[in-house]
Amino acid sequence: MAPNRKTLPQHKGTSLPDIHTLSHGQLVAFMEELHQPKFRASQIEEWVWGKNAHTFDEMSNLPKSLRDLLSQHLTIGTPKELARQISLDGSRKYLLQFTDGVSAECVGMPTKNRLTVCASTQAGCGMGCTFCATGKAGLARSLTASEIYEQVRHIGDDFHTRVTSVVLMGQGEPFMNYDETLKALRLLNSDKGVGIGARHLTVSTCGIIPGIKKFANEKEQFGLAVSLHSANQATRNKLMPGVRKYSLLYLYDVMGEYVDKTGRRPTYEYALIHGVNDTDTELDALCDFCRGTLAHVNLIQLNEVPGSPFTPSTEERANQFVQRLGSVGVAATIRNPRGADIDAACGQLSQAYTKC
Ligand code: SF4
Repeated sequence: MAPNRKTLPQHKGTSLPDIHTLSHGQLVAFMEELHQPKFRASQIEEWVWGKNAHTFDEMSNLPKSLRDLLSQHLTIGTPKELARQISLDGSRKYLLQFTDGVSAECVGMPTKNRLTVCASTQAGCGMGCTFCATGKAGLARSLTASEIYEQVRHIGDDFHTRVTSVVLMGQGEPFMNYDETLKALRLLNSDKGVGIGARHLTVSTCGIIPGIKKFANEKEQFGLAVSLHSANQATRNKLMPGVRKYSLLYLYDVMGEYVDKTGRRPTYEYALIHGVNDTDTELDALCDFCRGTLAHVNLIQLNEVPGSPFTPSTEERANQFVQRLGSVGVAATIRNPRGADIDAACGQLSQAYTKC
């Protein structure tokens, strides 16, 4: 007799729940309902999260009768790759579509013995940063933890290698989707999932203060990057109107508390924009903001976005920033933009893709 679905989340219409959305407790309860031993829940989770199974039939250590029951009551929602572009530097950008038709981009960046993934936490973004292609398009919706996780698995499978680090720096503001972002980080960190060390999992926020405060109290040693882009309030308000309500003074204090609490070194991201945030006054303000803090500054020459009035600073100016910051004791590096030729670099994930 087919069991009823009372332990499973009820979906509208005829669509079956995605197994990725079930908590361990829900899966155990469902196994009980199916008169199965509890350990089956862990076996199934190992297939779903550890081995990235795409069908219940792959779960070869489960009895056939259980695999059949699972497929009668659940689906395994895997994203569909709508497009892929490959950069001259080996980076690959993907446009993945989720079961409701919403899509988001992610990028795989290989280096010798390492594979870094830049994943999205939202489809689009509502923060409206004026130099960012994603910000221009607005927010479609936040992604679930499994949708964030799936981007990493998809890229690892495509490169046939283990993902060694993840930055949540793609589309979206992670702290506007805090709970699902944390869930995804924990899955990525877990031995049952991808098993990536917490220090190799980094969240990038545009400076959502309540999120930073909460993040400082998480027990894992996840990394934090803050998109600063200007230490001058008026300039930052223009570049990043979505965080206008959180002043730089407040950000400075909260970042101090973050360092005191975690002992971890945060990163400030700074996209150098010619004539906007690369002037001498801006450099002075940046030095003042970072002096005496543990912060590391990641400078990047702005990636040009079609139709944007902003242009990147010169390499010479970027080097001057590094030297001047160094002279006041602030560590700074110029980040090598990966995948710029395929619009995969920071601020360029806009879904304006070319079908492969
Ligand atoms: S820079 Fe980040 S926070 Fe700002 S609009 Fe783009 S994706 Fe959103």
